[in-house]
Amino acid sequence: MTLDVEKIRKDFPILKSMANGKPLVYLDNAATAQKPRQVINAVSKHYKKSNANVHRGIYKLAEDATAQYIKSKETVAKFVGAESYRSVIYFRSTTEAINAVARAWGDVNVDKGDHILITEMEHHSNIVPWQMLAKRKEAVLDYVKVSDGKFLDHDDFVSKLSLKPKIVAFSHVSNVLGTINQAQEMTKMAHEAGSTVLIDGAQAVPHMPVNVSEINADFYAFSGHKMLGPSGIGVLYGSEEILEGMAPFHGGGDMIRTVDFQESTWNELPWKFEAGTQNIEGAIGLAAAIKYLKRLGMENVREHEKTLTSYALDRLSHAGVTIHGPGKEDMDKKAGVISFSMKGAHAHDIAQIFDSEGVAIRSGHHCAMPLVTKILNEPAVPRMSFYIYNTQAEIDTAIASLDKVREILKIQR
Ligand code: PLP
Repeated sequence: MTLDVEKIRKDFPILKSMANGKPLVYLDNAATAQKPRQVINAVSKHYKKSNANVHRGIYKLAEDATAQYIKSKETVAKFVGAESYRSVIYFRSTTEAINAVARAWGDVNVDKGDHILITEMEHHSNIVPWQMLAKRKEAVLDYVKVSDGKFLDHDDFVSKLSLKPKIVAFSHVSNVLGTINQAQEMTKMAHEAGSTVLIDGAQAVPHMPVNVSEINADFYAFSGHKMLGPSGIGVLYGSEEILEGMAPFHGGGDMIRTVDFQESTWNELPWKFEAGTQNIEGAIGLAAAIKYLKRLGMENVREHEKTLTSYALDRLSHAGVTIHGPGKEDMDKKAGVISFSMKGAHAHDIAQIFDSEGVAIRSGHHCAMPLVTKILNEPAVPRMSFYIYNTQAEIDTAIASLDKVREILKIQR
């Protein structure tokens, strides 16, 4: 079913905005997504009608808030195919979720000389926590190569797996190249090598159907703010068996069963990993965002983005730019993220000129410095990224802005 984009756009108040005197064209969805009134209203309604701390009070308001908080976890679990909400831990973001695994799981399971395997296409949030772990434990950090500036090198993956890494951590979808990695197949291969698997799903869960049980990942992380939800709420899915065996990451209120002067015992899953007052309104907003996405259907979301991406790639291929990542011939492995370069124009100048036309795109290393500077060999790249409310007309506006770039920077075709 195709999405009714004009109807969807009416749900997003910010899309009526002007930017520099032009109608806003928001193409920075890989950074964060805009919020529909259904999410805004859910958060606002919570503050107006059910605000109280959770798991504490025995009065009606607190019980309502607690019920909504638990319901949010059940909604998340169902959305990503987790066995139960016991596997759903809330953190602030994908970044915090990965740090929690690197600390709580990594510090116990990784020893001196062990290998940790990640890839050259990772976001900093799936690089730096592993670098820190490798330094703490004197472990070895290996990278699966990116070939052709597009895909992970299969042979290199096989060869690095032969080193029997303790953990394999990779992104489901690259935030720079838009490459969709074969998460299920890679997880199977890593398990056969005896590794534990963490998947960074920050760019996948908002944009396509994801089932963590089918993928069989041990850990899978994603962020609420990239999928129409509020900032400050991120999800760590973990297999119950592994989570049960892990010690908590943070200590404090709510994550304990008993506390004595010297010792404490831990609460059951998932509460053992959630210390102190949580982002209750964030959890409620995230559940509203999932409800919205489910109503559209994730298959339809993916199809819409595929159509837009294919259209944008077509237009860009005649626009005198170099496109990074998989192209039109690989649409099944390409998400709605397009980075490109234009000879003679710096990425920041391109983004600034786009901005003067009302078009919001991001430029920079996109928190993937090794990929952008070493593999793409660019100091920075401009990036367009799409979502449910974007249209072909908006892509036309973006492409027309490229003519403006050439005109202002005096670049010949
Ligand atoms: N991983 C990928 C692939 C991302 O694109 C991002 C954000 O852009 C992150 C992780 C980090 O997400 P957050 O900033 O919400 O922690």
